[in-house]
Amino acid sequence: MMKALIAGAGIAGLTTALALRRIGWEVTVIEKAPGLRAGGYMLDFFGPGFEAAEELGVIEALRRHARGVGKLDMVDARGRTGSSMAYQRIIEAADGKLFPILRGDIERVLHDALPDAVTIRFGAEIVAVDDRGSGVTVRISTGETMEADLLVGADGIHSGVRRLVFGPETQFIRPLGFHTAAYFFDNQDVAAALDGDFKMMTAKDCMAGFYEVDRGRIMSFFVMRSDRMERPADVRATLQTAYGGLGWVLPAALDAAPAAKDIYYDIVAQVEMARWRRGRAILLGDAAYAVSLLAGQGASLAMAGGRALAQALEADRDIDAALERFETQLRPLVEDKQQAGRRMANWFVPATPAHALVRDIAIRVMNWPPLSGLMGQFFSVGSKGFSLARR
Ligand SMILES: Cc1cc2nc3c(=O)[nH]c(=O)nc-3n(C[C@H](O)[C@H](O)[C@H](O)COP(=O)(O)OP(=O)(O)OC[C@H]3O[C@@H](n4cnc5c(N)ncnc54)[C@H](O)[C@@H]3O)c2cc1C
Repeated sequence: MMKALIAGAGIAGLTTALALRRIGWEVTVIEKAPGLRAGGYMLDFFGPGFEAAEELGVIEALRRHARGVGKLDMVDARGRTGSSMAYQRIIEAADGKLFPILRGDIERVLHDALPDAVTIRFGAEIVAVDDRGSGVTVRISTGETMEADLLVGADGIHSGVRRLVFGPETQFIRPLGFHTAAYFFDNQDVAAALDGDFKMMTAKDCMAGFYEVDRGRIMSFFVMRSDRMERPADVRATLQTAYGGLGWVLPAALDAAPAAKDIYYDIVAQVEMARWRRGRAILLGDAAYAVSLLAGQGASLAMAGGRALAQALEADRDIDAALERFETQLRPLVEDKQQAGRRMANWFVPATPAHALVRDIAIRVMNWPPLSGLMGQFFSVGSKGFSLARR
C-alpha cells in the first residue's frame, strides 16, 4: 500500500487525506495545532473546489453549515449604504454553486468524513526531511522518524515543509500591500445594526466586514493597507490605530477585540513558485499557491488541489509522472485566480473615495436586471469546476 505523510490539517490537508484514502493510500496527517481549529472567518465557497466537494461526497454536509445572508451592503465609516446587492443574486451568478460558510466548519466536515484508518497527529510538526528518491524519511518534533512514498506540504502560507524542502519563504511570498485580521465577538447592538446582512465598511486605506453568525455573535474581518512584511508586536494596538477614528460599529468591535492569541492576523500575500514539487515532496493549497483573500478562492483551490492530486495518482502508478501531471494541469487555473486576486485589490480597499464611488455605481448598475449577467464576472464567481483531464 502506498503511504503519504501530509503536513497540515487545514482544508488542503484534510481534502488530500480524504481523497488519497479513497484511492487506497495509507495516510498520516501531522498538524502543528493541538486540535482542529474552530471558526476562523467566513468565506464564500464556490468555484473549482465545489466540484471536488461534490465528487468527494461532502457537499451536502457542507451545505448544512451554509450561512444565510440577506444582502451584501457596502457602507461608509458612518454606516451609510453606498450600494447593496441581494446575496441571492450572487448565488444565482454562480449557478447556485456558492454558499457562505465558516472556514472551521469546512475543516470539521472534512475531518468527520475521514475514515478511522487516517491518523492525525496533532501538536506535532515535521522538523527534517530526507528525500531518498523513491520516498521520504521525515523526523517530527516528537523525535520520531516516519517513512512515506510521498510527502504533501499542505501547511499553509507559512509552510514548514516548503522551508525545509525549497528554502526560506521570502523567495516565494508576494505581499499585496495589505494586512488582514479576523475575530469573533459578542454584541447585541452590532447584531441589530447588521440586521441579517453582510456589511462591508470601507474608509481610507482600510475596510472591515461584519456578519452575525449566531445570536449576537459577530464574525469580523479587517483589511488594511500596510507594506510591512512582519506581524506587528501588538495586534490590538494596530487595529486601534487603523480603525480607532471611525464610527458606526467600529468602536464596539474594537472594544470587544479578544486577546491577540485569539485574533487571526497575517499579511495579505500570494505564493508564487516556479515548481511545487521537488523529488517526492509536493506542496498544495496556500503552501504552494496562495491566491489571497482578495481572490476569494483559496479554500476552493485548496480542495480542488487535494482532489486533483489523488486523481493524478490514481490514473498513473508512476508517482513522479503523476506529480508532474498534477502540477502542469492545475497551474494555469491558479495563475488565472492569482491575477484576478491582484485586480480585486482596489475593489476591496478602494484607494480613494472616487474608487469607492465607481465600485458602488458598478454594483448599482449590476442590480439592473438586463446587466445582472456581469455580476458573475465582477465577483469572479462564474468560474467552472476543475478536474484533471484523463490521459
Ligand atoms: C479573511 C479571509 C477571508 C477569506 N475568504 C475566502 C473566500 O471567501 N473564499 C475562499 O475560497 N477562500 C478564502 N480565503 C482563503 C482561504 O481561507 C485559504 O486559502 C485556505 O484556508 C487555505 O487552506 P490551506 O489548507 O491551504 O491552508 P491553511 O488554512 O493555512 O491550513 C494550514 C494548516 O497547516 C497547519 N500548519 C501550519 N504550519 C504547520 C507545520 N509546520 N506543521 C504542521 N502543520 C502546520 C495549520 O495549523 C493549519 O491547520 C480567505 C482567507 C482569509 C484570511
